[in-house]
Amino acid sequence: MCGIVGYIGYRDAWNVLINGLKRLEYRGYDSAGIAIVNNTCSIYKCKGKVTDLERYIAGNNVSGTIGMGHTRWATHGEPNDVNAHPHKSYHGKFILIHNGIIENYAKLKEKLTSSGIKFQSETDSEVLVNFIEYIYEKGNINAENAVRLALSKVIGAYGLVIACTDEPDKLIAARNGSPLVIGVGNKEYFLASDATPIIEYTKSVIYLNDNDVAVISKDGLVLKTLKNDQQIPRIHQLDLDIGEIDKGGYKHFMLKEIFEQPRSILDTFRGRVSTDIKSLHLGGLFNVMDRLIGARRIIIIGCGTSWHAGLVGEYLFEDLARISVEVEYASEFRYRNPIITPDDVVIAISQSGETADTLAAVKLAKKSKALVLGICNVVGSSIPRETDAGVYTHAGPEIGVASTKAFTAQVTVLAMMAMLIGRMKNVLSEKKYKSYIKSLTEIPGKIEKILAYDNEFKKIANLYKLANNFLYLGRGYLFPVALEGALKLKEISYIHAEGYPAAEMKHGPIALIDHKMPVVVLATKDSSYEKIVSNIQEVKARNGIVIALVTEGESTITNMADHVLEIPVTDNIFTPLLAVVPLQLLSYHIAIMRGCNVDQPRNLAKSVTVE
Ligand code: GLU
Repeated sequence: MCGIVGYIGYRDAWNVLINGLKRLEYRGYDSAGIAIVNNTCSIYKCKGKVTDLERYIAGNNVSGTIGMGHTRWATHGEPNDVNAHPHKSYHGKFILIHNGIIENYAKLKEKLTSSGIKFQSETDSEVLVNFIEYIYEKGNINAENAVRLALSKVIGAYGLVIACTDEPDKLIAARNGSPLVIGVGNKEYFLASDATPIIEYTKSVIYLNDNDVAVISKDGLVLKTLKNDQQIPRIHQLDLDIGEIDKGGYKHFMLKEIFEQPRSILDTFRGRVSTDIKSLHLGGLFNVMDRLIGARRIIIIGCGTSWHAGLVGEYLFEDLARISVEVEYASEFRYRNPIITPDDVVIAISQSGETADTLAAVKLAKKSKALVLGICNVVGSSIPRETDAGVYTHAGPEIGVASTKAFTAQVTVLAMMAMLIGRMKNVLSEKKYKSYIKSLTEIPGKIEKILAYDNEFKKIANLYKLANNFLYLGRGYLFPVALEGALKLKEISYIHAEGYPAAEMKHGPIALIDHKMPVVVLATKDSSYEKIVSNIQEVKARNGIVIALVTEGESTITNMADHVLEIPVTDNIFTPLLAVVPLQLLSYHIAIMRGCNVDQPRNLAKSVTVE
């Protein structure tokens, strides 16, 4: 959450910062600010989006070659001009931008207040910048040591960029829990929460680790730990293209990412399906395959959409690999003293690889000696670095806050894992294995077919755009998709929506059904088809509106439902990959028709790096 950018070098910092903030705005967008650092330091910040900041600054002299910028996702203090970052210390010597939460801010604030220090904002971040200056002045030490000393007394998560007007030729960056990447140029450095603002300048990056403190001037970088141990910075080369982070002619990132799915799923299995389409190779799991085959239990952890992908994983692993699976919300798992044994396998799913609760759950699981794996999209992010092994989804950057292509990529990885383990355990026959691989390779083409019906989804969206509630029902592999469909709708259109296992409807939600309630029933042809036909009858008997998602050519449900969305025939295990697409588009169109900002839905932010 929250986007951080920093620049030190020879360019006009303002340009780098404002462009960087625009790239990072998906991470938080309730206020924005920049500081141009010299021995006085000018700060411009305001409530609203980066374009509001641009308007606010217009006409001011913002020249300078060192600076920092922030786009906020408020945790402490409402989004307003004063709470916006950067924050300046009480004597104006330190300037700071912060991503994360200082958990012991109240205690520190009390101490500083009793020393006569006054605060301007309600944020935890201002407490930190004041604390740094307090230590600096009291200890008569340099800026770097003051930062290090202050941070050693801080509890919480942070990604920080700090400047000191007494030492105006450097920036200090520090990280604990919140991501921070340094781009290395020629006599210039870039700082950002992720690589998207950096990629247009350099592909060489350093990922800061927890407890790293970097002191950066335009001539060099010194990396140390919080305890002052010198570190050798490891420079990675980014495998990312600038075109991948643009809208590519689509109105919104979300729409672009929905339409990218044939390609992103292909990228997910590309190189992992043999050229003769007869076997799978997951290089990232090669060294841990024995442990996977011998796993007593798989625990999948994730949040939001990743948790839904994990639920599909539960069906897949139990079905194809005959391993018992538990799927856990990372935030619950980590705080409830879970029982994890060394023969368990823990799989953490996170698009960004930075999700705070999932990352913390990974660290907890590692202590138990279980094999800990990651399924992440962002290469080099924290979870892949913490885990024993894993599989990247390779879906390309996902900028839309509502996750779409990350979900289908995660499910694709889970399916490949389940197929491979099932085959290696010999619980999945060679014949079935091969036929599944073939089916998987046909999925991108089938999604293309679904996308071609976009206008049909738009028509249905138009009919129900004013509904106050939606119910999504599914069984088996499509139950998690029902949850995901409901989540998509509520996060971008603000319509209340619930996903339920279809048979559970009788145990409560059926009471909600009347002539105003659209019920999206996921009813493809599988073993529970007859059952779901009965569920549809139950909805119709209570005058509910049925929008049924069916397998192409189906007629029974088509005759019963008010509206029908069709998806091509595929194996049951792959239906989530197809069924979710019409639901994504339905949500997208409804949200647009209601005038919502789908790429930046209210109160949400991409990549939840705070607990
Ligand atoms: N906790 C800080 C605040 O509320 C930083 C939030 C963020 O990561 O944007 O200002």
